[in-house]
Amino acid sequence: MTRVYNFNAGPAALPLEVLTKAQSELLDLSGSGMSVMEMSHRSKEFQSVVDEAESKVRQLMGISDNYKVLFLQGGASLQFAMIPMNLRAQGQVADYVDTGSWASKAIKEAKLGGAANVAWSGKEENYVRMPLQSEMNLSSDAAYVHICSNETIGGIRYSAFPKTDAPLIADMSSEIMSRVIDVNNFGMIYAGAQKNIGPSGLALVIIRNDLIERTPDTTPIFLRYKTHADDGSLYNTPNTWGIYILKLVMEWMESLGGIAAVQKINEAKAGALYSTIDSSDFWRSPVNKADRSIMNVVWRLPSEELETAFVSEAKKAGMIGLKGHRSVGGIRASIYNAVPVAAIDALVEFMNDFEKKNG
Ligand SMILES: *Cc1c(COP(=O)(O)O)cnc(C)c1O
Repeated sequence: MTRVYNFNAGPAALPLEVLTKAQSELLDLSGSGMSVMEMSHRSKEFQSVVDEAESKVRQLMGISDNYKVLFLQGGASLQFAMIPMNLRAQGQVADYVDTGSWASKAIKEAKLGGAANVAWSGKEENYVRMPLQSEMNLSSDAAYVHICSNETIGGIRYSAFPKTDAPLIADMSSEIMSRVIDVNNFGMIYAGAQKNIGPSGLALVIIRNDLIERTPDTTPIFLRYKTHADDGSLYNTPNTWGIYILKLVMEWMESLGGIAAVQKINEAKAGALYSTIDSSDFWRSPVNKADRSIMNVVWRLPSEELETAFVSEAKKAGMIGLKGHRSVGGIRASIYNAVPVAAIDALVEFMNDFEKKNG
């Protein structure tokens, strides 16, 4: 068996320990004689999977009883639609900060069926930075303020989050559990699981109790947060496999010492890449230094031809997923929690060799 160094943006690398554990339990989960995919979502075996997944998420992130933790389907993209349908009343405005591709997608959904105020947009500058607090034109009566905390394609992230009077809602898909945050500063946090915490088709939603009560009666039952909160994420058949893998990822996070410990590793990983990029004019980071993501590292080479060669030679050397998103080009290394330090070491060595040959 050969495992590649996986720099995919999502779905992305999962910890080898998690895959091995899942493999060992695949035919018989805790003496049930079945895999997790074959058992009733109402069984006591599966109930304990959901309960453990939730309690581990709560413990790792320090989430108080004031918030619900939900496991929903439809990925992060369904949240773009559910948020305005649940949290913005008829005639009310919601504020959005446009920091890149993902924030823009959320704005598109919010513009349907109500008012969305774009409080700041980085589009004219090609999304190379996050806004300063003073640059945002927030509404005085906003239902909420929506941000994307880490732009997966642009490679930027907030080093400090905006201060808002209205509840702050953050799409943390590509950085959830990569750094310590204070959940209490947010009204809601959500993430598609397939970057840092599990497989695709599963979204983690952390939502403050009072917000769950806001939903207008016209919102379809299935699309209400309250429906899923009242039934402990088991209103209908959930993504049982996804929740199970998420639980294993949480156990793996615990084994590493929790989010603070993982953050240290992440900062060292990102630091090694950025210092290689900064070490010579051959490489160029297109984004504002203070806003550089520690999950999605983007950079350019002197020409597109060299970028193409870089990606294909890296692939031959066992490193995959380094091509930048088709909308922006260049190189992107997604270095989520599960990407091992050895992968970064190999990439840095490869970069140094590549520069010697082509610089
Ligand atoms: C990947 C991603 C999404 C979309 O997630 P899906 O699960 O595919 O809907 C949304 N926001 C961000 C920041 C992402 O990285």
